[in-house]
Amino acid sequence: MRVYNFSPGPSALPLKVLEQAKAEMTDANGTGQSVMEMSHRSKDFKPIIEKTENSLRELMGIPSNYKVLFLQGGASLQFSMIPLNLAASEDNTKKKVSYMETGIWSQKAVEEAAKYTDVIVKASSKDRSFSYIPEGAKPEASDVYCHYTPNNTIVGTRWPYIPETGSVPLAADFSSSILSEPIDVSRFGIIYAGAQKNLGPAGATIVIIREDLIGKAPSWVPVMLRYDTHAKEGSMYNTPPCYSIYMIGLVLDWLKEQGGVEGILKINLEKADLLYSYLEASKHFMSPVEKTSRSLMNIPFICREENPEKQKEIETRFLKEAAEAGLVNLAGHRLVGGMRASIYNAMPVDGVKALIAFLEKFEKSL
Ligand code: PMP
Repeated sequence: MRVYNFSPGPSALPLKVLEQAKAEMTDANGTGQSVMEMSHRSKDFKPIIEKTENSLRELMGIPSNYKVLFLQGGASLQFSMIPLNLAASEDNTKKKVSYMETGIWSQKAVEEAAKYTDVIVKASSKDRSFSYIPEGAKPEASDVYCHYTPNNTIVGTRWPYIPETGSVPLAADFSSSILSEPIDVSRFGIIYAGAQKNLGPAGATIVIIREDLIGKAPSWVPVMLRYDTHAKEGSMYNTPPCYSIYMIGLVLDWLKEQGGVEGILKINLEKADLLYSYLEASKHFMSPVEKTSRSLMNIPFICREENPEKQKEIETRFLKEAAEAGLVNLAGHRLVGGMRASIYNAMPVDGVKALIAFLEKFEKSL
Protein backbone atom coordinates (compact mmCIF):
# COMPACT_ATOMS: atom_id res chain seq x y z
CA MET A 1 0.00 0.00 0.00
CA ARG A 2 1.31 3.48 -0.87
CA VAL A 3 1.20 5.86 2.10
CA TYR A 4 0.89 9.64 2.12
CA ASN A 5 4.49 10.59 2.90
CA PHE A 6 4.95 14.01 4.52
CA SER A 7 8.73 13.64 4.81
CA PRO A 8 10.80 16.84 4.65
CA GLY A 9 13.38 15.14 2.44
CA PRO A 10 14.08 12.81 0.80
CA SER A 11 10.39 13.11 0.03
CA ALA A 12 7.51 11.61 -1.89
CA LEU A 13 7.89 11.36 -5.66
CA PRO A 14 4.99 11.30 -8.13
CA LEU A 15 3.74 7.71 -8.53
CA LYS A 16 3.76 8.12 -12.31
CA VAL A 17 7.49 8.90 -12.21
CA LEU A 18 8.25 5.86 -10.06
CA GLU A 19 6.19 3.63 -12.39
CA GLN A 20 8.07 4.95 -15.42
CA ALA A 21 11.43 4.43 -13.72
CA LYS A 22 10.31 0.89 -12.91
CA ALA A 23 9.32 0.22 -16.52
CA GLU A 24 12.71 1.51 -17.69
CA MET A 25 14.73 -0.10 -14.90
CA THR A 26 16.41 -2.78 -16.97
CA ASP A 27 16.07 -1.24 -20.45
CA ALA A 28 16.06 2.54 -20.74
CA ASN A 29 15.19 4.07 -24.11
CA GLY A 30 15.77 0.73 -25.90
CA THR A 31 19.45 0.64 -24.92
CA GLY A 32 19.19 -2.73 -23.18
CA GLN A 33 20.67 -1.13 -20.01
CA SER A 34 19.52 0.58 -16.86
CA VAL A 35 20.51 4.25 -16.59
CA MET A 36 22.47 3.11 -13.52
CA GLU A 37 24.70 1.00 -15.75
CA MET A 38 25.47 3.61 -18.43
CA SER A 39 28.79 5.35 -18.81
CA HIS A 40 28.25 9.04 -18.13
CA ARG A 41 30.21 9.79 -21.31
CA SER A 42 28.20 7.43 -23.54
CA LYS A 43 25.89 8.43 -26.37
CA ASP A 44 23.08 6.86 -24.33
CA PHE A 45 23.47 9.14 -21.29
CA LYS A 46 24.14 12.40 -23.18
CA PRO A 47 20.48 12.91 -24.26
CA ILE A 48 19.35 12.19 -20.68
CA ILE A 49 21.40 14.95 -19.04
CA GLU A 50 20.61 17.33 -21.91
CA LYS A 51 16.89 16.67 -21.57
CA THR A 52 16.98 17.33 -17.81
CA GLU A 53 18.86 20.59 -18.28
CA ASN A 54 16.60 21.76 -21.12
CA SER A 55 13.44 20.97 -19.14
CA LEU A 56 14.76 22.88 -16.12
CA ARG A 57 15.66 25.86 -18.33
CA GLU A 58 12.20 25.83 -19.89
CA LEU A 59 10.27 25.43 -16.62
CA MET A 60 12.24 28.08 -14.70
CA GLY A 61 12.83 30.42 -17.66
CA ILE A 62 16.59 30.36 -17.04
CA PRO A 63 18.29 33.06 -19.16
CA SER A 64 21.07 31.99 -21.56
CA ASN A 65 23.78 33.77 -19.53
CA TYR A 66 23.27 31.31 -16.66
CA LYS A 67 24.93 27.89 -16.41
CA VAL A 68 23.09 24.89 -14.95
CA LEU A 69 25.40 22.53 -13.03
CA PHE A 70 24.62 19.06 -11.67
CA LEU A 71 26.88 18.61 -8.66
CA GLN A 72 27.11 16.41 -5.56
CA GLY A 73 27.61 17.19 -1.88
CA GLY A 74 24.07 18.45 -1.26
CA ALA A 75 23.03 21.99 -0.50
CA SER A 76 25.43 21.80 2.45
CA LEU A 77 28.45 21.81 0.14
CA GLN A 78 27.12 25.00 -1.46
CA PHE A 79 27.39 26.65 1.98
CA SER A 80 31.17 26.29 1.40
CA MET A 81 31.38 26.59 -2.40
CA ILE A 82 29.62 29.95 -2.55
CA PRO A 83 32.05 31.81 -0.27
CA LEU A 84 35.04 29.90 -1.69
CA ASN A 85 34.18 30.77 -5.28
CA LEU A 86 32.67 34.22 -4.96
CA ALA A 87 34.51 35.90 -2.11
CA ALA A 88 37.63 34.02 -0.97
CA SER A 89 40.94 35.68 -1.85
CA GLU A 90 44.40 34.51 -2.83
CA ASP A 91 45.97 35.89 0.39
CA ASN A 92 43.04 34.99 2.70
CA THR A 93 41.91 38.61 3.16
CA LYS A 94 38.31 38.35 4.30
CA LYS A 95 35.87 40.25 2.08
CA LYS A 96 32.49 41.47 3.32
CA VAL A 97 29.36 39.45 2.51
CA SER A 98 25.79 39.70 3.88
CA TYR A 99 23.67 36.84 5.16
CA MET A 100 20.04 36.78 6.22
CA GLU A 101 19.52 34.50 9.20
CA THR A 102 16.03 32.99 9.11
CA GLY A 103 16.54 29.42 10.29
CA ILE A 104 18.90 26.62 11.13
CA TRP A 105 20.06 26.05 7.54
CA SER A 106 20.86 29.71 7.02
CA GLN A 107 22.83 29.65 10.29
CA LYS A 108 24.86 26.75 8.95
CA ALA A 109 25.52 28.73 5.79
CA VAL A 110 26.75 31.65 7.93
CA GLU A 111 29.08 29.42 9.97
CA GLU A 112 30.70 28.05 6.85
CA ALA A 113 31.01 31.42 5.08
CA ALA A 114 32.68 32.90 8.19
CA LYS A 115 35.69 30.66 7.55
CA TYR A 116 36.52 32.46 4.31
CA THR A 117 34.74 35.82 4.48
CA ASP A 118 33.76 38.63 6.81
CA VAL A 119 30.06 37.80 7.33
CA ILE A 120 27.60 40.47 8.35
CA VAL A 121 24.21 39.15 9.43
CA LYS A 122 22.03 41.91 7.98
CA ALA A 123 18.68 40.59 9.12
CA SER A 124 17.65 37.92 11.58
CA SER A 125 14.49 36.42 13.04
CA LYS A 126 16.33 34.54 15.77
CA ASP A 127 14.73 36.76 18.45
CA ARG A 128 11.39 35.00 17.97
CA SER A 129 12.60 31.45 17.25
CA PHE A 130 12.65 32.12 13.48
CA SER A 131 8.85 32.25 13.39
CA TYR A 132 8.76 35.18 10.93
CA ILE A 133 10.65 36.78 8.03
CA PRO A 134 12.21 40.21 8.71
CA GLU A 135 11.03 43.11 6.57
CA GLY A 136 13.18 45.27 4.28
CA ALA A 137 16.32 43.10 4.45
CA LYS A 138 19.07 44.30 2.13
CA PRO A 139 22.88 44.17 1.89
CA GLU A 140 25.44 47.01 1.81
CA ALA A 141 26.19 48.11 -1.77
CA SER A 142 29.85 47.15 -1.27
CA ASP A 143 29.18 43.51 -0.27
CA VAL A 144 30.59 40.84 -2.55
CA TYR A 145 27.31 38.92 -2.41
CA CYS A 146 24.20 38.48 -0.26
CA HIS A 147 22.78 35.10 0.80
CA TYR A 148 19.31 34.10 1.97
CA THR A 149 17.05 31.04 2.33
CA PRO A 150 13.73 31.68 0.54
CA ASN A 151 12.02 28.74 2.26
CA ASN A 152 13.03 27.57 5.74
CA THR A 153 12.31 23.87 5.86
CA ILE A 154 12.51 23.30 9.61
CA VAL A 155 10.53 26.27 10.92
CA GLY A 156 8.19 26.51 7.93
CA THR A 157 8.66 30.11 6.86
CA ARG A 158 8.76 31.56 3.33
CA TRP A 159 10.14 34.93 2.30
CA PRO A 160 7.17 36.84 0.86
CA TYR A 161 9.60 39.03 -1.09
CA ILE A 162 12.99 38.79 -2.82
CA PRO A 163 15.57 40.99 -1.03
CA GLU A 164 16.43 44.10 -3.04
CA THR A 165 20.19 43.83 -3.61
CA GLY A 166 20.88 46.27 -6.45
CA SER A 167 24.13 45.21 -8.11
CA VAL A 168 25.14 42.88 -5.25
CA PRO A 169 24.72 39.27 -6.51
CA LEU A 170 22.00 37.43 -4.61
CA ALA A 171 22.67 33.80 -3.60
CA ALA A 172 19.64 31.72 -2.64
CA ASP A 173 19.18 28.28 -1.08
CA PHE A 174 16.04 27.02 -2.84
CA SER A 175 16.43 23.46 -1.47
CA SER A 176 12.87 23.21 -0.20
CA SER A 177 11.01 25.46 -2.63
CA ILE A 178 12.59 25.18 -6.08
CA LEU A 179 9.88 24.89 -8.77
CA SER A 180 7.08 25.35 -6.24
CA GLU A 181 6.24 28.82 -7.60
CA PRO A 182 7.53 30.96 -10.49
CA ILE A 183 10.62 33.07 -9.84
CA ASP A 184 12.49 35.62 -11.93
CA VAL A 185 15.90 33.93 -12.22
CA SER A 186 17.50 37.15 -13.48
CA ARG A 187 17.12 38.64 -9.97
CA PHE A 188 19.65 36.08 -8.67
CA GLY A 189 23.39 35.56 -9.04
CA ILE A 190 23.22 31.95 -7.91
CA ILE A 191 20.39 29.57 -7.04
CA TYR A 192 21.02 26.14 -5.56
CA ALA A 193 19.00 23.19 -4.30
CA GLY A 194 19.53 19.60 -3.26
CA ALA A 195 17.36 17.35 -5.44
CA GLN A 196 15.70 15.32 -2.72
CA LYS A 197 12.61 17.44 -2.07
CA ASN A 198 11.03 18.93 -5.21
CA LEU A 199 13.32 17.54 -7.91
CA GLY A 200 13.98 13.82 -7.50
CA PRO A 201 15.96 11.39 -5.39
CA ALA A 202 18.98 12.45 -3.32
CA GLY A 203 22.33 12.58 -5.07
CA ALA A 204 22.29 15.59 -7.36
CA THR A 205 22.54 19.22 -6.33
CA ILE A 206 21.39 21.79 -8.87
CA VAL A 207 23.35 25.03 -9.19
CA ILE A 208 22.12 27.80 -11.49
CA ILE A 209 24.81 30.46 -11.71
CA ARG A 210 25.25 33.68 -13.72
CA GLU A 211 28.26 33.26 -15.98
CA ASP A 212 30.13 36.36 -14.81
CA LEU A 213 30.32 34.85 -11.29
CA ILE A 214 32.24 31.81 -12.53
CA GLY A 215 36.07 31.80 -12.49
CA LYS A 216 36.64 34.01 -9.44
CA ALA A 217 37.97 31.32 -7.04
CA PRO A 218 41.54 31.74 -5.82
CA SER A 219 44.06 29.12 -6.99
CA TRP A 220 44.10 27.27 -3.65
CA VAL A 221 40.43 26.21 -3.89
CA PRO A 222 40.35 22.44 -4.63
CA VAL A 223 39.47 21.49 -8.20
CA MET A 224 36.21 19.73 -7.27
CA LEU A 225 34.96 22.75 -5.31
CA ARG A 226 35.36 25.22 -8.18
CA TYR A 227 32.38 26.27 -10.32
CA ASP A 228 34.73 26.86 -13.29
CA THR A 229 35.79 23.17 -13.23
CA HIS A 230 32.20 21.95 -13.52
CA ALA A 231 31.03 24.70 -15.88
CA LYS A 232 33.88 24.04 -18.37
CA GLU A 233 33.18 20.32 -18.41
CA GLY A 234 29.36 20.45 -18.61
CA SER A 235 29.08 18.81 -15.13
CA MET A 236 31.28 15.95 -16.45
CA TYR A 237 34.63 16.72 -14.86
CA ASN A 238 34.08 13.49 -12.97
CA THR A 239 31.16 11.08 -12.80
CA PRO A 240 27.96 13.03 -12.13
CA PRO A 241 25.02 11.54 -10.14
CA CYS A 242 23.61 9.95 -13.32
CA TYR A 243 20.54 8.20 -11.95
CA SER A 244 19.41 11.21 -9.93
CA ILE A 245 19.78 13.39 -13.05
CA TYR A 246 17.65 10.93 -15.04
CA MET A 247 14.97 10.89 -12.32
CA ILE A 248 14.92 14.70 -12.19
CA GLY A 249 14.22 14.61 -15.93
CA LEU A 250 11.18 12.38 -15.32
CA VAL A 251 9.94 14.61 -12.48
CA LEU A 252 10.23 17.64 -14.76
CA ASP A 253 8.19 15.86 -17.47
CA TRP A 254 5.52 15.24 -14.82
CA LEU A 255 5.69 18.89 -13.73
CA LYS A 256 5.04 20.01 -17.31
CA GLU A 257 1.90 17.86 -17.27
CA GLN A 258 0.74 19.72 -14.14
CA GLY A 259 0.83 22.98 -16.12
CA GLY A 260 4.45 23.80 -15.26
CA VAL A 261 5.38 26.01 -12.35
CA GLU A 262 2.28 28.22 -12.73
CA GLY A 263 0.07 25.14 -12.67
CA ILE A 264 1.76 23.60 -9.63
CA LEU A 265 1.59 26.92 -7.75
CA LYS A 266 -2.23 26.82 -7.98
CA ILE A 267 -2.22 23.30 -6.54
CA ASN A 268 0.34 24.26 -3.86
CA LEU A 269 -1.78 27.25 -2.82
CA GLU A 270 -4.86 25.07 -2.59
CA LYS A 271 -3.08 22.51 -0.40
CA ALA A 272 -1.51 25.09 1.92
CA ASP A 273 -4.77 27.02 2.20
CA LEU A 274 -6.67 23.87 3.20
CA LEU A 275 -4.21 23.03 5.98
CA TYR A 276 -3.71 26.57 7.32
CA SER A 277 -7.47 27.20 7.33
CA TYR A 278 -7.98 24.01 9.30
CA LEU A 279 -5.24 25.01 11.80
CA GLU A 280 -6.74 28.50 12.23
CA ALA A 281 -10.11 27.03 13.14
CA SER A 282 -8.87 24.11 15.23
CA LYS A 283 -9.34 24.13 19.00
CA HIS A 284 -6.45 21.74 19.59
CA PHE A 285 -3.79 22.43 16.95
CA MET A 286 -2.15 25.61 15.63
CA SER A 287 0.58 26.96 13.36
CA PRO A 288 3.48 28.57 15.27
CA VAL A 289 4.39 30.75 12.25
CA GLU A 290 3.33 34.36 11.65
CA LYS A 291 0.65 34.62 8.96
CA THR A 292 2.57 36.67 6.38
CA SER A 293 5.63 34.40 6.58
CA ARG A 294 4.06 30.99 6.14
CA SER A 295 5.62 28.38 3.87
CA LEU A 296 3.68 26.65 1.10
CA MET A 297 5.94 23.60 1.36
CA ASN A 298 6.59 22.88 5.05
CA ILE A 299 3.76 23.37 7.53
CA PRO A 300 4.73 22.83 11.17
CA PHE A 301 1.94 22.58 13.72
CA ILE A 302 1.74 22.13 17.46
CA CYS A 303 -0.83 21.06 19.99
CA ARG A 304 -2.42 24.03 21.83
CA GLU A 305 -2.22 22.15 25.16
CA GLU A 306 -0.31 24.29 27.70
CA ASN A 307 0.94 21.57 30.01
CA PRO A 308 4.22 20.50 28.30
CA GLU A 309 4.01 16.89 29.47
CA LYS A 310 0.44 16.51 28.26
CA GLN A 311 1.35 18.23 25.00
CA LYS A 312 4.20 15.78 24.39
CA GLU A 313 1.92 12.85 25.19
CA ILE A 314 -0.75 14.01 22.73
CA GLU A 315 1.80 14.69 19.98
CA THR A 316 3.43 11.26 20.42
CA ARG A 317 0.05 9.53 20.23
CA PHE A 318 -0.91 11.63 17.22
CA LEU A 319 2.24 10.65 15.30
CA LYS A 320 1.77 6.97 16.11
CA GLU A 321 -1.91 6.84 15.13
CA ALA A 322 -1.34 8.95 12.00
CA ALA A 323 1.37 6.52 10.83
CA GLU A 324 -1.00 3.59 11.46
CA ALA A 325 -3.54 5.38 9.25
CA GLY A 326 -0.98 5.68 6.41
CA LEU A 327 0.04 9.30 7.05
CA VAL A 328 3.78 9.03 7.68
CA ASN A 329 6.78 11.19 8.56
CA LEU A 330 4.79 13.93 10.28
CA ALA A 331 7.23 14.49 13.17
CA GLY A 332 8.70 17.98 13.43
CA HIS A 333 12.47 18.44 13.10
CA ARG A 334 14.34 17.02 16.11
CA LEU A 335 15.50 20.55 17.05
CA VAL A 336 11.99 22.04 17.24
CA GLY A 337 9.66 19.09 17.98
CA GLY A 338 5.91 19.18 17.33
CA MET A 339 4.61 18.10 13.96
CA ARG A 340 5.34 19.17 10.40
CA ALA A 341 3.61 18.32 7.15
CA SER A 342 5.96 18.73 4.20
CA ILE A 343 3.70 19.08 1.18
CA TYR A 344 6.07 19.43 -1.76
CA ASN A 345 4.92 19.43 -5.38
CA ALA A 346 4.41 15.65 -5.44
CA MET A 347 1.96 15.62 -2.52
CA PRO A 348 -1.55 15.44 -4.02
CA VAL A 349 -4.45 17.57 -2.73
CA ASP A 350 -6.03 14.30 -1.58
CA GLY A 351 -3.07 13.69 0.76
CA VAL A 352 -3.71 16.99 2.52
CA LYS A 353 -7.44 16.28 2.69
CA ALA A 354 -6.67 12.87 4.24
CA LEU A 355 -4.45 14.55 6.84
CA ILE A 356 -7.15 17.07 7.75
CA ALA A 357 -9.79 14.34 8.01
CA PHE A 358 -7.47 12.42 10.33
CA LEU A 359 -6.77 15.52 12.45
CA GLU A 360 -10.52 16.15 12.80
CA LYS A 361 -11.09 12.56 13.88
CA PHE A 362 -8.16 12.68 16.31
CA GLU A 363 -9.47 15.90 17.90
CA LYS A 364 -12.60 14.06 18.92
CA SER A 365 -10.43 11.81 21.12
CA LEU A 366 -9.03 14.78 23.06
N1 PMP B 1 19.12 24.00 3.07
C1 PMP B 1 17.81 23.75 3.29
C2 PMP B 1 16.83 24.88 3.22
C3 PMP B 1 17.41 22.45 3.58
O1 PMP B 1 16.13 22.18 3.81
C4 PMP B 1 18.38 21.41 3.65
C5 PMP B 1 18.01 19.97 3.92
N2 PMP B 1 16.88 19.69 4.56
C6 PMP B 1 19.72 21.74 3.44
C7 PMP B 1 20.05 23.02 3.13
C8 PMP B 1 20.79 20.68 3.51
O2 PMP B 1 20.70 19.95 2.35
P1 PMP B 1 21.61 18.71 2.01
O3 PMP B 1 21.19 17.60 2.89
O4 PMP B 1 21.29 18.49 0.55
O5 PMP B 1 23.03 19.11 2.22
